[in-house]
Amino acid sequence: MKIQGQAAIVTGGGSGLGAATARALAAAGAKVAVFDVNAQAAQAVAADIGGVAVVCDVTDPAGATTAIATARAAHGAARVLVNCAGIGVAKRILGRDGPQPLEDFARVVQVNLIGSFNMLRLASADMATLDPLEDGERGVVVSTASVAAFEGQVGQAAYAASKGGIAALTLPAARELAQFGIRVLAVAPGLFLTPMMHNLPEEVQASLGASIPFPKRLGKPEEFADLVAHCVANPALNGEVIRLDGALRLPP
Ligand code: NAD
Repeated sequence: MKIQGQAAIVTGGGSGLGAATARALAAAGAKVAVFDVNAQAAQAVAADIGGVAVVCDVTDPAGATTAIATARAAHGAARVLVNCAGIGVAKRILGRDGPQPLEDFARVVQVNLIGSFNMLRLASADMATLDPLEDGERGVVVSTASVAAFEGQVGQAAYAASKGGIAALTLPAARELAQFGIRVLAVAPGLFLTPMMHNLPEEVQASLGASIPFPKRLGKPEEFADLVAHCVANPALNGEVIRLDGALRLPP
């Protein structure tokens, strides 16, 4: 799909990979709605790219419905949804305080997996009402999984399960929504330099970067955004979970 002129929603667009994606889509001529639970962050990015900021907690069905309506009023129904909102939590199953509380696990799954699915189902309902473009295409959804979906580390059971869920739903969603002209994809990033990583000491960042076979550094958010833009633009891509990790394989 030609990005120029399309309305797009980027969740988690106030920071990191989502902010870079919002910038890249805007640079390619999209009308971008920056969705984030953090109003200030969303506003800062939206102001920078001439988009609209929409406060949205992706886990809230009613709130997300209202947020999508707000974006629709500003730009028309979105043909592009990029799910970047997510949280990362490191917690051992058997920690010092006993078994991992179920609420911890549920919260990560709620935001990362159920939040992404909530946005997918609501945004695709809107896309299905639009006139078809070339090849009958009406829209595209790109969600953010993680290499943890395939090779989760110690402390990542909840995170890996949430990202594995995103990876697993990509193919059935693509098959099911094809009849409406909607493509569904996921990108599974390895290690990227975002605020999640800025919290780590520089030497830890450097050693994590060095563990990546090529390019031997942490990924840049713009590199993730570039792949998302390619996913939007290339109609031949559908149902794929694309690893973007520099061939990273961390030991357990
Ligand atoms: P980040 O913390 O910089 O950005 C995440 C954004 O999501 C924040 O602006 C936050 O406010 C927003 N958010 C959190 N919960 C939300 C909710 N309930 N509703 C709406 N917005 C919410 O993180 P990032 O590194 O840019 O990560 C973006 C995505 O990429 C996440 O899904 C993350 O799991 C995934 N990911 C990141 C990396 C990495 O190395 N940075 C690797 C693999 C996957």
